[in-house]
Amino acid sequence: MTHTKIKELLSTTAVGTEVTVKGWVKTFRNNQFLAINDGSCLSNIQAVVDFENTDESILKRLTTGAAVEVHGTLVESLGKGQRVEVKAKDIIILGDSDPEKFPLQPKKHSLEFLREIAHLRFRTNTFNAVFKVRNCLAFAVHKFFNEKGFVYLHTPIITGSDAEGAGEMFKVTTLDFDNTPRTEDGQVDYSEDFFGKSTNLTVSGQLEGELAAMAFGDIYTFGPTFRAENSNTTRHLAEFWMIEPEMAFYELKDNMDLAEEFLKYLIKYALEHCPEEIEFLRTRLLDEEKSKPQKDRSELDLTQKLQFVLENDFERLTYTEAIDILKQSKPNQKKQFKYLIDSWGADLQSEHERYLVEKHFKKPVILTNYPADIKSFYMRLNEPDAEGRKTVAAMDILFPGIGEIVGGSQREERYDKLIQRMEEMHVPIEEMSWYLDTRRFGSAPHAGFGLGFERLVLFVTGMTNIRDVIPFPRTPKNAEF
Ligand code: ATP
Ligand code: MN
Repeated sequence: MTHTKIKELLSTTAVGTEVTVKGWVKTFRNNQFLAINDGSCLSNIQAVVDFENTDESILKRLTTGAAVEVHGTLVESLGKGQRVEVKAKDIIILGDSDPEKFPLQPKKHSLEFLREIAHLRFRTNTFNAVFKVRNCLAFAVHKFFNEKGFVYLHTPIITGSDAEGAGEMFKVTTLDFDNTPRTEDGQVDYSEDFFGKSTNLTVSGQLEGELAAMAFGDIYTFGPTFRAENSNTTRHLAEFWMIEPEMAFYELKDNMDLAEEFLKYLIKYALEHCPEEIEFLRTRLLDEEKSKPQKDRSELDLTQKLQFVLENDFERLTYTEAIDILKQSKPNQKKQFKYLIDSWGADLQSEHERYLVEKHFKKPVILTNYPADIKSFYMRLNEPDAEGRKTVAAMDILFPGIGEIVGGSQREERYDKLIQRMEEMHVPIEEMSWYLDTRRFGSAPHAGFGLGFERLVLFVTGMTNIRDVIPFPRTPKNAEF
């Protein structure tokens, strides 16, 4: 090892040893105190520069953002704020950073500004913390499923099926736009395309996941998904990561139990393994909320909010029960909702979901048994209710501040019922023959769900815009870097 990570140095007691630190300059004060960060932790290490015996030309190049290598002795720090520091003997500039041009000055920058320089924002404390938490959560996803014996399945990113139905798709093609081959009736001739057919980027790995669950029992996917949805919200990306477990022999309740256990496991894991980052983000959020009127501030701080989710059962209720609550609710009575709830069958908008979670129950909610008409074809049809209304065994998990974080269902395993639903919903049956084979050969009850990874990271970091929890966000009219 040519150098020691700052994280290790700050926790060592090996005072008096010779060390080498490599990192980037955060600040340089009084020609003497050099704060260096190497990304291994949020904290910087302080190197004390002997300016009288250091070349003037080196001192001038110790600017914010420069990459440096410092050799010296680890000593107990006399200053407050750090236990140890490096008494520098030799400083090498590895890479200069022109202070006139480096956009990250040692001051607070707005998240909007940092989004424009996403290639540099990793070097800020906020994004160091956010992406460390993201990393930690990604690891925890694999750990959770691995401990349970689930098989990690890589489903295709380029898909030949356009019936996934979860959203608008991006086309994948090598056809020449200026000279598109056409069939006799003027349609684009996809037989000339790379795959010899029309292909898209996947919106979900679920259908392929179901195939594997019918062999391995329990599987999960964790990969990028793409939706060309033109919704410019703080919770939607055009490219996002999704975790989709699929379990044979699970019914809806088993599915909900697993999802709730999974979410709690992930949150607990982050609290235990990223205490420094979460503490930083907690303080950041408190600071941010100071500028808001009292009534708009959260009752709980970030850590309390995460603890609260761990300690309480999610509220489970049916869509029908939720509609009754919403109908009676103040914002509905006073016509404050943009979309008023007047009858059973209405699709719930984010304002309704947030009312249930944030105002009515004040905790995570699992909504089940949605009207069949507003849900996908593969969801299992329930027996009609007392009033003869058709529902499916779906479940959505709603989180405070986020809205929907998980969407899932028990799948329709009965061949005839599935075909009937596909016909009703105009899903091309011939093209889906591979999917239907699972129902022809050894069909079995099964269930699964999708967790939007960025929505989870949003919740755990307390950030408010989904663009700030993925390194390089893709949104309408934006695919920088
Ligand atoms: P929404 O109603 O919020 O658009 P959805 O019903 O389209 O969500 P699903 O198709 O059920 O969502 O996808 C499963 C999960 O993936 C959602 O619960 C959510 O966490 C996440 N998700 C869906 N669309 C997006 C998106 N555009 N960007 C980020 N995450 C998303
Ligand atoms: Mn959507």
